Amino acid sequence: MTKLTAGQCELCDSAGGDVLWQDDCCRVIAVADSGFPGFCRVILQSHVAEMTDLLPDIRDRLLKTVLATESALREIMSPHKINLACLGNIIPHLHWHVIPRFRDDSHFPDSVWATARRVSTKRPEPDRDRLVAHLRHVLG
Ligand SMILES: [Zn+2]
Repeated sequence: MTKLTAGQCELCDSAGGDVLWQDDCCRVIAVADSGFPGFCRVILQSHVAEMTDLLPDIRDRLLKTVLATESALREIMSPHKINLACLGNIIPHLHWHVIPRFRDDSHFPDSVWATARRVSTKRPEPDRDRLVAHLRHVLG
């Protein structure tokens, strides 16, 4: 695993958002995007680009964290769908987007990166304390 120096990768240089949970493998952050309440990212703590570059136990821990984040958002927000995405074309540092989706959000059924189809129905952000409690319960 490569450790970059400051200024080379924004996910090495900063948390990337409000940290809800973390361990030595990865962190879960809340993304500040009012158009998509509950939008979270699971970010690997090390600078690695591809899932197949990870040792199996690290890959398993990362995926367990992605699934724990999905289940927390499902329980708290009851979205119509969860979108999971691992792109990394712009920032090649492993991170998973975990995005609650609603039929009346601005982009549904397209991806959140597509062109908007409508104005979103406003929804509140999920309760931060409940999200943190769920992640701690599942992940320790
Ligand atoms: Zn990085």
